[in-house]
Amino acid sequence: MQMHIAVIPGDGIGPEITQAAKMVLDKIASVFGHEIAYTEVCAGGAAIDRFGDPLPAEELKKCQSADSVLLGAVGGPKWDSAPRRPEDALLALRKALGLYANLRPALLTPCLAQASPLKQELVQNGLDILVVRELTGGIYFGKRGKDAVSAFDVEQYSDFEIERIARRAFLSARGRKGCVVSVDKANVLESSKLWRSIVSRVQQEEFPDVALSHMYVDNAAMQIATNPSQFDVIVTTNMFGDILSDLTSVITGSIGLLPSASLGDSSPGMYEPIHGSAPDIAGENKANPIATILSCAMMLKLDFGLASEAEAIERAVNGVLEDGWRTFDIKDNDKPYIGTAEMGRLIADCI
Ligand code: ATP
Ligand code: MG
Repeated sequence: MQMHIAVIPGDGIGPEITQAAKMVLDKIASVFGHEIAYTEVCAGGAAIDRFGDPLPAEELKKCQSADSVLLGAVGGPKWDSAPRRPEDALLALRKALGLYANLRPALLTPCLAQASPLKQELVQNGLDILVVRELTGGIYFGKRGKDAVSAFDVEQYSDFEIERIARRAFLSARGRKGCVVSVDKANVLESSKLWRSIVSRVQQEEFPDVALSHMYVDNAAMQIATNPSQFDVIVTTNMFGDILSDLTSVITGSIGLLPSASLGDSSPGMYEPIHGSAPDIAGENKANPIATILSCAMMLKLDFGLASEAEAIERAVNGVLEDGWRTFDIKDNDKPYIGTAEMGRLIADCI
């Protein structure tokens, strides 16, 4: 297969981790007989420095004409007082590419369970949750305003927006354990009442084979922190998903391990690690590239339909971890650790 991937290295550790991920993609291409063409895209802080714009039209166009987009990370303290924000590049990309669904799997690698605050529960029951977060609606995009004594933000969802994210969650559940928990605040919010009724309707009409239950967001937070193994797929709104996906990922022990996908109804999707640009360790060959490498696995599966290739990456990552190789963020106390490039190479070699 011919694949055209736009790569946004971005800022901080972004260039190092995308470099390591490309090593793994190249190995996949040579083992499975594919051809990958990369187009490098300048966005975020790097683009502010170079063009005075976090996402110039020319750079956006490169993403739009690719089959898929791989993003390292954007942002950093360097641009804190800049007139344009590096993160604006992400919002612009999501909007231009129509990416309304954000998929964040939190999967625990058994040999790393000792790094988690929930050690006992995780060692016994494991953890494999997929958070499906609505990405383009809700309070982050509603009407907002303020006057002298008050301020407001409107949470608003349409039937259509809820239907399409619900469908995405049920479809994902079919390839997993077949259980969806929809999270809302329907005891208080009108928008949540609509959310709940539409998600239920989509399940009854189109996905009777998938189990659906509903949970209030406060209870969901408590359940994730105390008994996470009960969950398979969680589908929720933009803001609740923002909060709950950070919670589900942090209990696995390291943000350096977890991938994400942002999807629309057609490609390209955008794939990126859940962590940020980690300016504190940038340029030191210290960053863990596994989150980015697993994001490539999601890309191969979701944008290109290459499930075996995706599994080959996941197996290689697990194999390298089980053999005891560690980057500094997941290292055992006094044992030595390896760098970004070495981890990338080991995983590539393992495919
Ligand atoms: P953002 O606002 O972009 O989410 P942030 O400041 O919230 O960024 P990160 O950039 O994700 O957070 O960094 C948080 C901490 O985690 C930092 O100490 C960073 O060094 C560490 N970290 C982040 N990503 C990695 C990685 N891939 N490998 C090792 N450590 C990482
Ligand atoms: Mg952050």
